[in-house]
Amino acid sequence: MNTIEKCVVCGSTSHHPFLELKDHMITQELFTIVECENCGFHFTNPIPSIDKIGHYYQSEEYISHSSSRKGLINWLYNVVRNRTLQQKVSWINNAVHGKRLLDVGSGTGHFLRVAQKKGFEGYGIEPDDEARRFAHKVNHVRSCDQAELYSLENNSVDVITMWHVLEHIYDLRKDLARMREILSPGGKMFVAVPNMNAYDARYYEKFWAAYDVPRHLYHFRQQDIAKLFLDMGFQLEKVIPMKYDAFYVSMLSEKYKGRFSLFGGVIGFISNIRAKKYGYSSQVYVFRND
Ligand SMILES: [Zn+2]
Repeated sequence: MNTIEKCVVCGSTSHHPFLELKDHMITQELFTIVECENCGFHFTNPIPSIDKIGHYYQSEEYISHSSSRKGLINWLYNVVRNRTLQQKVSWINNAVHGKRLLDVGSGTGHFLRVAQKKGFEGYGIEPDDEARRFAHKVNHVRSCDQAELYSLENNSVDVITMWHVLEHIYDLRKDLARMREILSPGGKMFVAVPNMNAYDARYYEKFWAAYDVPRHLYHFRQQDIAKLFLDMGFQLEKVIPMKYDAFYVSMLSEKYKGRFSLFGGVIGFISNIRAKKYGYSSQVYVFRND
């Protein structure tokens, strides 16, 4: 395990325990989320060392790498995914002029496939070999391993997308600085992350599925991600709600609580209504490279 000394947002070394919770998805091991005493940012601490984290991803249930439709939650996930893929591409079309796209954490390549169909010259970066093979074979898109991030030319892409990926990145500031070099001046970054300030996070507390420790290293609120990116040279341009995530995450949280997962639909609904105050369960942040 690695102990994190410094808050990645503000650099402070003072933090205290905020929540102790299980890895509900895979190992059932206990982890701790701490809160920075200076800026209030929350992060998992300690975290598995980078050579051990693979162990926490090895599950048939890790559905970002699976397309099976077993079970109600996975079925819903797949239906919603197909719809949100179309939405994502249209958000980008409305905000970006160029067509050169890099999808960081491209997984099985479903998003890239849709983006390519809509005229983007996209390719992906994905650490998982099996997911990369799936992307090539099934979705016919190009994806490379992580080293590619450091061999790309500067100013070579118009838009970088990270769909629920930022919260998994170990060397966050280093990789973000590199992404900014790759991005053309005025280029855009689309970053989807869970929002731990949302109503469903408050309701489920340690059972909230989007804490997803230890895979999620960071637990952002809007002010945290805006501050981090501003410090890295990006301006927050827009926040887009991901309304389906409230339902999906709440249903999974009900499952973790050992209750009937459909009840999560009610909490998801309330979360979307209360979003004016707390923000949505997951949000897409659109940043401009200044
Ligand atoms: Zn801090």
